[in-house]
Amino acid sequence: MTEEVCPGDGGCSQGFQGGTLTGRAATGVTVSYYQPGEYQRVINKRNPLSPIDYMPSDTVNVAGHPLRYQAALAFWRFVDAAAASGVATTVVSGFRSYASQASLFQNYVAIYGQEQADTISARPGYSEHQSGLAVDIGNPSAVCGLQECFASTAAGQFAAAHAHEFGFVIRYPAGMSYWTGYAYEPWHLRYVGRDVAMDMRNRGVSTLEQYYGYPPAPTY
Ligand SMILES: [Zn+2]
Repeated sequence: MTEEVCPGDGGCSQGFQGGTLTGRAATGVTVSYYQPGEYQRVINKRNPLSPIDYMPSDTVNVAGHPLRYQAALAFWRFVDAAAASGVATTVVSGFRSYASQASLFQNYVAIYGQEQADTISARPGYSEHQSGLAVDIGNPSAVCGLQECFASTAAGQFAAAHAHEFGFVIRYPAGMSYWTGYAYEPWHLRYVGRDVAMDMRNRGVSTLEQYYGYPPAPTY
Protein backbone atom coordinates (compact mmCIF):
# COMPACT_ATOMS: atom_id res chain seq x y z
CA MET A 1 0.00 0.00 0.00
CA THR A 2 2.94 2.32 0.56
CA GLU A 3 6.35 2.64 -0.99
CA GLU A 4 9.25 0.39 -0.15
CA VAL A 5 11.93 2.24 1.78
CA CYS A 6 15.52 1.09 2.22
CA PRO A 7 17.10 3.69 4.50
CA GLY A 8 20.57 2.22 4.65
CA ASP A 9 20.25 0.19 7.84
CA GLY A 10 20.65 -3.12 6.04
CA GLY A 11 16.99 -3.64 5.29
CA CYS A 12 13.85 -2.49 3.56
CA SER A 13 10.26 -2.03 4.69
CA GLN A 14 6.96 -1.77 2.86
CA GLY A 15 3.38 -1.34 4.01
CA PHE A 16 0.68 -3.79 2.94
CA GLN A 17 -3.03 -3.93 3.81
CA GLY A 18 -2.42 -5.78 7.05
CA GLY A 19 0.72 -4.11 8.34
CA THR A 20 4.39 -3.82 7.51
CA LEU A 21 6.90 -6.18 5.95
CA THR A 22 10.48 -5.57 7.07
CA GLY A 23 13.32 -7.49 5.45
CA ARG A 24 16.85 -7.62 6.78
CA ALA A 25 19.81 -9.70 5.70
CA ALA A 26 20.47 -10.78 9.29
CA THR A 27 16.96 -11.72 10.36
CA GLY A 28 15.00 -12.36 7.17
CA VAL A 29 11.51 -10.96 6.69
CA THR A 30 9.47 -9.86 9.69
CA VAL A 31 5.71 -9.38 9.32
CA SER A 32 4.36 -6.78 11.70
CA TYR A 33 0.55 -6.96 11.64
CA TYR A 34 -1.31 -3.73 12.19
CA GLN A 35 -3.30 -3.69 15.44
CA PRO A 36 -6.25 -1.28 15.48
CA GLY A 37 -5.43 1.70 17.63
CA GLU A 38 -1.76 0.85 18.03
CA TYR A 39 -0.57 4.22 16.71
CA GLN A 40 -2.93 6.01 19.08
CA ARG A 41 -1.98 4.12 22.25
CA VAL A 42 -1.70 6.34 25.31
CA ILE A 43 1.65 5.83 26.98
CA ASN A 44 2.24 7.78 30.18
CA LYS A 45 3.21 7.37 33.84
CA ARG A 46 0.00 5.39 34.50
CA ASN A 47 0.07 3.42 31.24
CA PRO A 48 3.35 1.67 30.47
CA LEU A 49 4.25 -0.21 27.32
CA SER A 50 2.91 -3.75 27.19
CA PRO A 51 4.91 -5.86 27.57
CA ILE A 52 7.10 -3.55 29.64
CA ASP A 53 10.13 -4.37 27.47
CA TYR A 54 8.15 -3.97 24.21
CA MET A 55 10.31 -3.69 21.10
CA PRO A 56 8.80 -2.74 17.71
CA SER A 57 9.77 -5.03 14.83
CA ASP A 58 9.21 -2.63 11.93
CA THR A 59 11.64 0.19 12.62
CA VAL A 60 13.63 1.88 9.87
CA ASN A 61 16.47 4.32 10.31
CA VAL A 62 15.72 8.03 10.01
CA ALA A 63 18.97 9.98 10.06
CA GLY A 64 20.47 7.26 12.21
CA HIS A 65 17.51 7.03 14.59
CA PRO A 66 14.99 4.18 14.31
CA LEU A 67 11.29 4.94 13.96
CA ARG A 68 8.44 2.58 13.14
CA TYR A 69 7.80 2.41 9.41
CA GLN A 70 4.55 4.43 9.31
CA ALA A 71 5.97 7.09 11.63
CA ALA A 72 9.12 7.26 9.51
CA LEU A 73 7.14 7.76 6.29
CA ALA A 74 5.16 10.55 7.91
CA PHE A 75 8.27 12.11 9.39
CA TRP A 76 10.06 12.17 6.03
CA ARG A 77 7.09 14.05 4.58
CA PHE A 78 7.25 16.49 7.49
CA VAL A 79 11.00 17.01 6.93
CA ASP A 80 10.49 17.54 3.18
CA ALA A 81 7.72 20.08 3.80
CA ALA A 82 9.85 21.93 6.33
CA ALA A 83 12.76 22.03 3.88
CA ALA A 84 10.45 23.34 1.16
CA SER A 85 9.60 26.18 3.55
CA GLY A 86 13.29 26.86 4.14
CA VAL A 87 13.36 25.19 7.56
CA ALA A 88 16.05 22.59 8.20
CA THR A 89 15.43 20.01 10.92
CA THR A 90 17.53 17.34 12.57
CA VAL A 91 16.66 14.18 14.49
CA VAL A 92 17.93 14.11 18.05
CA SER A 93 16.31 10.88 19.24
CA GLY A 94 13.91 8.24 17.99
CA PHE A 95 13.29 4.70 19.24
CA ARG A 96 14.97 3.89 22.53
CA SER A 97 14.93 0.34 23.88
CA TYR A 98 13.94 -0.58 27.44
CA ALA A 99 17.63 -1.07 28.24
CA SER A 100 18.76 2.26 26.79
CA GLN A 101 15.91 4.09 28.55
CA ALA A 102 16.94 2.42 31.82
CA SER A 103 20.48 3.73 31.54
CA LEU A 104 19.32 7.18 30.38
CA PHE A 105 16.95 7.45 33.35
CA GLN A 106 19.61 6.28 35.79
CA ASN A 107 21.93 9.01 34.52
CA TYR A 108 19.26 11.63 35.23
CA VAL A 109 18.65 10.15 38.71
CA ALA A 110 22.38 10.32 39.44
CA ILE A 111 22.50 13.99 38.43
CA TYR A 112 19.16 15.34 39.68
CA GLY A 113 17.74 12.76 42.06
CA GLN A 114 14.68 10.61 41.45
CA GLU A 115 12.02 13.29 42.02
CA GLN A 116 13.47 15.74 39.52
CA ALA A 117 14.41 12.96 37.09
CA ASP A 118 10.76 11.85 37.00
CA THR A 119 9.69 15.26 35.66
CA ILE A 120 12.12 15.28 32.72
CA SER A 121 12.66 11.63 31.78
CA ALA A 122 10.57 8.48 31.72
CA ARG A 123 11.31 5.34 33.64
CA PRO A 124 12.05 2.35 31.39
CA GLY A 125 8.83 0.87 30.01
CA TYR A 126 7.04 4.21 30.30
CA SER A 127 8.72 6.21 27.52
CA GLU A 128 6.99 6.99 24.26
CA HIS A 129 10.39 6.62 22.64
CA GLN A 130 10.23 2.89 23.41
CA SER A 131 7.13 2.67 21.18
CA GLY A 132 9.09 3.76 18.11
CA LEU A 133 6.41 6.40 17.48
CA ALA A 134 8.13 9.40 19.07
CA VAL A 135 10.85 11.58 17.63
CA ASP A 136 12.77 14.47 19.16
CA ILE A 137 13.69 17.08 16.58
CA GLY A 138 16.23 19.86 16.57
CA ASN A 139 17.80 22.65 14.55
CA PRO A 140 21.04 22.00 12.62
CA SER A 141 22.72 24.67 14.76
CA ALA A 142 21.57 22.75 17.86
CA VAL A 143 20.30 26.06 19.25
CA CYS A 144 17.83 25.48 22.11
CA GLY A 145 18.25 21.71 21.74
CA LEU A 146 15.83 19.88 24.07
CA GLN A 147 15.04 23.20 25.76
CA GLU A 148 11.79 25.10 26.05
CA CYS A 149 13.16 27.91 23.87
CA PHE A 150 13.15 25.40 20.96
CA ALA A 151 9.54 26.53 20.48
CA SER A 152 10.73 29.92 19.22
CA THR A 153 13.25 28.52 16.72
CA ALA A 154 12.50 27.90 13.04
CA ALA A 155 12.12 24.15 13.49
CA GLY A 156 10.02 24.58 16.62
CA GLN A 157 7.67 27.06 14.96
CA PHE A 158 7.27 24.84 11.90
CA ALA A 159 6.45 21.85 14.11
CA ALA A 160 3.88 23.80 16.12
CA ALA A 161 2.18 25.04 12.95
CA HIS A 162 2.32 21.92 10.77
CA ALA A 163 3.17 18.69 12.66
CA HIS A 164 -0.52 17.70 12.82
CA GLU A 165 -0.79 17.81 9.02
CA PHE A 166 1.63 14.89 8.94
CA GLY A 167 0.07 12.90 11.77
CA PHE A 168 2.16 14.13 14.69
CA VAL A 169 1.19 15.88 17.90
CA ILE A 170 3.40 17.88 20.23
CA ARG A 171 2.82 15.38 22.96
CA TYR A 172 3.81 17.49 25.97
CA PRO A 173 2.26 20.92 25.44
CA ALA A 174 2.95 23.96 27.58
CA GLY A 175 1.08 24.04 30.87
CA MET A 176 -0.31 20.51 30.56
CA SER A 177 2.01 18.56 32.86
CA TYR A 178 -0.94 17.78 35.17
CA TRP A 179 -2.31 15.66 32.33
CA THR A 180 0.83 14.37 30.66
CA GLY A 181 3.26 14.15 33.57
CA TYR A 182 5.90 16.14 31.68
CA ALA A 183 7.01 19.72 31.32
CA TYR A 184 6.64 21.45 27.96
CA GLU A 185 8.64 19.64 25.26
CA PRO A 186 8.13 21.51 21.98
CA TRP A 187 10.65 19.16 20.30
CA HIS A 188 8.94 15.85 21.14
CA LEU A 189 6.64 14.73 18.32
CA ARG A 190 4.43 11.67 18.69
CA TYR A 191 2.97 9.92 15.65
CA VAL A 192 -0.77 9.23 16.03
CA GLY A 193 -1.80 9.28 12.37
CA ARG A 194 -3.18 12.19 10.39
CA ASP A 195 -6.88 11.64 11.22
CA VAL A 196 -6.35 11.88 14.97
CA ALA A 197 -3.76 14.66 14.84
CA MET A 198 -6.01 16.78 12.61
CA ASP A 199 -9.09 16.06 14.73
CA MET A 200 -7.29 17.00 17.95
CA ARG A 201 -6.19 20.26 16.35
CA ASN A 202 -9.68 21.01 15.04
CA ARG A 203 -11.27 20.33 18.42
CA GLY A 204 -8.61 22.23 20.33
CA VAL A 205 -7.68 19.19 22.43
CA SER A 206 -3.96 19.16 23.09
CA THR A 207 -3.31 15.97 25.05
CA LEU A 208 -3.97 12.32 24.21
CA GLU A 209 -5.21 11.82 27.78
CA GLN A 210 -8.06 14.30 27.27
CA TYR A 211 -8.77 13.20 23.70
CA TYR A 212 -9.21 9.55 24.69
CA GLY A 213 -10.80 10.20 28.08
CA TYR A 214 -7.90 8.95 30.18
CA PRO A 215 -7.43 10.30 33.72
CA PRO A 216 -4.55 12.73 34.28
CA ALA A 217 -1.16 11.07 34.75
CA PRO A 218 0.95 13.62 36.62
CA THR A 219 2.93 10.93 38.50
CA TYR A 220 3.50 7.18 38.53
ZN1 LIG B 1 11.26 12.88 23.36
